[in-house]
Amino acid sequence: MTARIIDGKAIAQQHRAELAVRVGRLKAGGLTPGLAVVIVGDDPASKVYVRNKALACEQIGMHSEVHALPASTAQAHLLDFVRRLNGNDDIHGILVQMPLPKSIDARAVIETIAPEKDVDGFAYQNVGALVVGEAAFYPCTPLGVMKMLEEEGIAVAGKHAVVVGRSTIVGKPMALLLINASATVTVCHSKTPDLGAITRQGDILVAAVGRARMITADMVKPGAVVIDVGINRLPDGKLASDVDYGAVAAVASHITPVPGGVGPMTIAMLLANAVKSAERVAGLDAGIETRIA
Ligand code: NDP
Repeated sequence: MTARIIDGKAIAQQHRAELAVRVGRLKAGGLTPGLAVVIVGDDPASKVYVRNKALACEQIGMHSEVHALPASTAQAHLLDFVRRLNGNDDIHGILVQMPLPKSIDARAVIETIAPEKDVDGFAYQNVGALVVGEAAFYPCTPLGVMKMLEEEGIAVAGKHAVVVGRSTIVGKPMALLLINASATVTVCHSKTPDLGAITRQGDILVAAVGRARMITADMVKPGAVVIDVGINRLPDGKLASDVDYGAVAAVASHITPVPGGVGPMTIAMLLANAVKSAERVAGLDAGIETRIA
């Protein structure tokens, strides 16, 4: 079997084109959706992510602003900064780029973002809504995965989905979205014994581990849908994903490439959440879609 490649870049592009239309409609009504991205410190990877997010906003006609604060920024100052953005009517989404310097309590920062502007979906209020299966801003990476499955016509209900990784930004919300879509879900992590015995049961296998090529072909059920979230920097500077792509593609029915898989969808979902936030303000909100095929 040679897996069908799920083209996240193309699916993301479709979403962005639709979002550009919605931004145009908002602007015609006098409201320009705005995203504020706050970055603290000089982490080179974070700088690239922030630049890409701002650029993606501009490409669909949104307003975006990047606020770069020094690593020495005091927590109280950052919280005040976020509160000012909460009160800024030109801003509909606020994103504080993680990781923050160790001197800053990231949770305190996240909880200071107004939940209706928390387009990353990390604040307790949005996390709680996800747990009970209500509309909310859902974290962008797992939401992007669900959209890819939907676009590919891959049914989730009744399937056994195995998620490797239990982080608050990927693994856990991924598992919750899959449960809400009626999959039977198993979550694995670093303390899971005999990982392969579990991953081999997955009709859908999501790898969100952060370890280069750790999901090998023998860990994959023949015909499974394999979603590769991982982006890992190797010692030689090259990037590698969590899945041993070539070998796994020979076993799986569908697979996401890296780059061009989950990454572009993450940014598209960030834009989608920001546009939805602006539509709410404009009274155009048709509800946040939670249905997954
Ligand atoms: P974290 O480091 O926060 O979480 C990694 C998870 O993997 C943890 O739950 C950890 O278990 C688990 N894990 C680690 N080693 C093993 C192992 N040997 N066997 C089983 N489970 C293991 O990472 P993130 O969730 O933030 O990110 C995961 C990957 O996804 C990274 O490569 C990251 O760069 C990438 N990423 C990609 C995005 C995109 O847009 N494409 C967006 C976000 C992340 P434990 O909890 O026990 O420690």
